[in-house]
Amino acid sequence: MGIIVQKFGGTSVGSTERIVNVAERVKEETDKGNHVVVVVSAMGKTTDQLVNMAKEITTIPSKREMDMLLSTGEQVTISLLSMALQEKGIQTVSYTGWQAGIITEPVHGNARIIKINTEALEEQLKAGKVIIVAGFQGITENGEITTLGRGGSDTTAVALAAALKADKCDIYTDVTGVFTTDPRYVKKARKLLSVSYDEMLELANLGAGVLHPRAVEFAKNYQVRLEVRSSMERVNGTIIEGEATLEQNLVVRGVAFEDEITKVTVLGLQNSLTSLSTIFTTLAQNQINVDIIIQSTTEAGTANLSFSIHTDDWLETLNVLEDHKEKLGYEQLDAENKLAKVSIVGSGMISNPGVAAKMFEVLAANNIAVKMVSTSEIKVSAVVEERYMQKAVEVLHDAFELDALGVH
Ligand code: ADP
Ligand code: ASP
Ligand code: MG
Repeated sequence: MGIIVQKFGGTSVGSTERIVNVAERVKEETDKGNHVVVVVSAMGKTTDQLVNMAKEITTIPSKREMDMLLSTGEQVTISLLSMALQEKGIQTVSYTGWQAGIITEPVHGNARIIKINTEALEEQLKAGKVIIVAGFQGITENGEITTLGRGGSDTTAVALAAALKADKCDIYTDVTGVFTTDPRYVKKARKLLSVSYDEMLELANLGAGVLHPRAVEFAKNYQVRLEVRSSMERVNGTIIEGEATLEQNLVVRGVAFEDEITKVTVLGLQNSLTSLSTIFTTLAQNQINVDIIIQSTTEAGTANLSFSIHTDDWLETLNVLEDHKEKLGYEQLDAENKLAKVSIVGSGMISNPGVAAKMFEVLAANNIAVKMVSTSEIKVSAVVEERYMQKAVEVLHDAFELDALGVH
C-alpha cells in the first residue's frame, strides 16, 4: 500500500461525463489499497475563457485579480470530482491550493511553490480519504492567492508527490505519453517508453507542452517517479526517470518547437565593458525574458547585438530600449517577427559529435535558413521563419530516424 498522486488535465475533465470517467480511474487505485491524492485542472477550455472575459473588460488586468479569477476554474472541478467519487462510495475531501497547504512566493501569474504544509493532507490520508486538490494555485505567506503559470497543475501534482513522498505521480492527459514530437503536428511521431529527467526538462522548456517545465524540475530534484499516460486508453505511458532506457542506438530522442518568436537587433552599441550588462539588466527589470543572445563586433569598434524574445514582449522591449536609448548608447534598432524555434534533444549528443552539423545540413537541404542558434550538451536549437516550422520539425524527425523509435 502506497501513496499515489494522479493528475488529470483540462481535456480529461472537460465534461461531467469525463469527470465520472476520472472517478473510475481513481477508484482503480483505491481498489488496489493505495492512498490517493488527485490533482485536477479547470474543465476543458475554462482557463482560456476566463482570460478572454478579463480581456473584454480591460487590456491590462491587475495580476492579483487575474489570479483570483483563474483560480476559480480548478475549484469547479475539485468539487464535481469529489461528488463523483462519493457517488461510488469513496470517502473524499476536496481542497483548494491554500487548504492543501501549498505556499508560493509572492508573485502573481507565475509563482513558484516554496513549501507545502502537509499536516492536513497527511491527516486526511490517514483517515482513509481520497484528497482532491485544485491544481495551478497556491497562497503566499500573506494570504494572497497565486497561480503557477499556464499548465501549472502538473507542478502542483509533482510537488505534492515530492512533499508526501509518494510512490508515484501519474500525469493523465489527452495523449498516451511523451512522443518524439507533438503527435498533433507530426503524424509520424512515436511514443517513447522512457525519457530522462534532463531530456524531458529540455523538451518541456523548448516548447513540448505535455509537461510544465517546473514539474520536471521538481521530479528531478526529488527523484519523483513520473509517468505521462492517457486518461482515456488503458495503455502504458512514458516513464520519466534518472536515465532513460536506451532504445536502439539513438542520439536524438525528440524534436520540440515553439512559435511567436521575435529577433531583436541592436546596432552600433558602444563596445564598453558594461554595455551588455546594462542592456540585459534593463530588460530583466522590466520582466522581459531573453532567450538566445548573439554579439559581434564591427570594424568601427562598436558591437551589434541580437537576441530573441517571445513576440508578446516585443512592444514592451521596444519601449524599454527606446526609453533608455541614451543610457544604452546604441545607433539603431531592428526586429524580425514571425520566427520559430525548432530544437533537437537527446542525451546521446554528449558523446556524438556532428549532431549540430547534421541538423544544419538537413535544414539547408530543405532551403530552410537558420537565423539564430543555441546549444547545450543535450540540445541544439535553431531559429527559423515560422512558415517553415512544421517542415523543419518533419525533416529533422525523418533525418534522425525518430520514427524508428518507441511505439505508435
Ligand atoms: P493537459 O490539459 O492534460 O495538461 P496539455 O494540452 O497541457 O494537456 O498537454 C498535452 C498536449 O501536449 C498534447 O495534446 C500534445 O498536443 C502536446 N504535446 C506537445 N509536445 C508533445 C510531445 N512531445 N509528446 C506528447 N504530447 C505533446
Ligand atoms: N488550468 C490551467 C491552464 O489551463 C492550469 C493547467 O491546466 O495545468 O493553464
Ligand atoms: Mg498541461
